[in-house]
Amino acid sequence: MAKPDLRICHLYPELMNIYGDRGNIIALMQRCRWRDFGVRVVQLSLGDRLDPAEHDFYFIGGGQDREQILVSEDLSSEKGEALRQAVEDGAALLSICGGYQLLGNHFLTYTGEDLPGISLFDVKTIGGETRFIGNVAVASELEGTGGTLVGFENHSGRTHLGSGCRPLGRVIKGYGNNGEDGHEGCVYRHAVGTYLHGSLLPKNPLLADWFILQALRRRHDLEGLPALDDALENAAHRAALEFTLREKSWRRRLRKS
Ligand code: GLN
Repeated sequence: MAKPDLRICHLYPELMNIYGDRGNIIALMQRCRWRDFGVRVVQLSLGDRLDPAEHDFYFIGGGQDREQILVSEDLSSEKGEALRQAVEDGAALLSICGGYQLLGNHFLTYTGEDLPGISLFDVKTIGGETRFIGNVAVASELEGTGGTLVGFENHSGRTHLGSGCRPLGRVIKGYGNNGEDGHEGCVYRHAVGTYLHGSLLPKNPLLADWFILQALRRRHDLEGLPALDDALENAAHRAALEFTLREKSWRRRLRKS
């Protein structure tokens, strides 16, 4: 069997990258290298063409409202359609916070800009008067991702899911999609949107491997992935989880938008 090779497309790396979101790409590359898989990353930004057949995994990080305006315009070209096509064809995708919002139906910012999304996810986001900030612990509902997810959120947007997608998980601590319904993130096919910055994948190794496996299965016949020694990653996960569950002050961590 041909050696598996993961083809990553990193979208808008210079515009959409806060709280270490780029670390998600580094984690995926390293987990492929440890397994002696091939891996390559193509960066695409404003005006670049996206060929949906060329990549197995797409990543878009978080961003401020002003960067989101530029990206929303760019995605409203054929690039948005190409990205939807890639996910329909089985590609995996991770989008964080500002990126997640722009893949939904629309994002109405707190200052009144209505940014159209590409409707890859059936979600709507409205900016609120306060920001949701702090560590988050989530009970994952994504099969094979091991119970809990940990991360950090900072957003004014409140996201509500429509019937066309399901939540990534339920908030144990933190705000998640909107601070009301207990949902965190969304899942459609092999695409995930989430508010969890951090970076997310280094300390949630089962989720990292879920993306690698789904992405590789597009072109490779794989039952599963060779196991790695995740002692350090699991210790980081546990430490973040324990710290987050012990925190008493999270409900007060609301700031003006
Ligand atoms: N600007 C968006 C919001 O405040 C996204 C922020 C982010 O990506 N952290 O909701």
